[in-house]
Amino acid sequence: MVSESTTVLLDGKQLSKEVKESIAREVEQWKSSGGKTPHLAAILVGSDGASETYVNHKVKACEQVGFKSTLKRFDSSITEAELLNEISKLNEDRDIDGFIVQLPLPDHISSDKVINAIDPKKDVDGFHPENVGRLTLNLPAYISATPFGIMQLLKRYDIETSGKYCVILGRSNIVGRPMSILMSRNTNPGNATVTLCHSRTTDLRSITKQADILIVALGKPEFVTADMVKENAVVIDVGITRVSDESAKRGYRLKGDVKFDEVAEKAAFITPVPGGVGPMTVTSLLANTLQACKKEIYK
Ligand code: NAP
Repeated sequence: MVSESTTVLLDGKQLSKEVKESIAREVEQWKSSGGKTPHLAAILVGSDGASETYVNHKVKACEQVGFKSTLKRFDSSITEAELLNEISKLNEDRDIDGFIVQLPLPDHISSDKVINAIDPKKDVDGFHPENVGRLTLNLPAYISATPFGIMQLLKRYDIETSGKYCVILGRSNIVGRPMSILMSRNTNPGNATVTLCHSRTTDLRSITKQADILIVALGKPEFVTADMVKENAVVIDVGITRVSDESAKRGYRLKGDVKFDEVAEKAAFITPVPGGVGPMTVTSLLANTLQACKKEIYK
């Protein structure tokens, strides 16, 4: 039986601060040796509250590390053709090293078409099929920011993943699926035996209970309870859902996919929400943008 005091909190906020400081130093050195200022652009369509918050964090983070940033906002009435045209302008813009299109997009716009239109060399979100393919083949690639951030957390806390049984809940293209590939690759972190679960998985609890490492990306607040978790497991909670709460200043609270208090008593390592995976996602986007500027992935 493990007591609560031995549980280690994976502090993404602190690690993100350290990584940002290191990126800022690298940017300084790069610029003083004649390199250009890294430049990240973001496209935001519509005025969804959560998307606005995420994009604002990304723009603010650029300022903190000495990048240039450009935010391109469009009304939700923009047509697919118009948006694709904006993407080709960013593809051609020589000053912009990388750009992202904040998802989700309005229903009348195909996110697949939009992602496919991004030049893979500027696809710092790592969503383009070319980057996903490279990632799968263990070739240099922009790794999508959330899985990349989780890998950094595992590394920083020296968590052994080799030979461990890793269960991932959720198979989205931006989190669960790339995470499953990263954890199964012959790398460190990696070399885990991976099971990827989704809404059609039967008897989920019997699978999660065996996991040495449990990574949860469902968007279902407090879905994972203590009885689903193995003693001393590593639990990574990717979920962020706004749950209304009139007593909170903003009228809502952010909830993860894991019932934190009870699972923390059982886990050896656990991420809080907020302050776990979220801050690492933004930092990983910065790392990808710096790589794009330095042409480290695509020579
Ligand atoms: P998504 O695209 O909605 O995918 C959710 C996945 O969960 C799907 O694969 C779905 O299965 C599976 N699922 C749903 N109900 C299930 C159930 N009862 N049992 C098993 N699997 C179930 O989600 P996402 O984009 O990956 O995001 C997941 C969460 O992470 C959200 O809260 C999101 O806000 C958060 N997120 C956080 C960050 C961050 O920086 N911290 C970044 C990205 C996302 P099917 O495929 O069968 O439908």
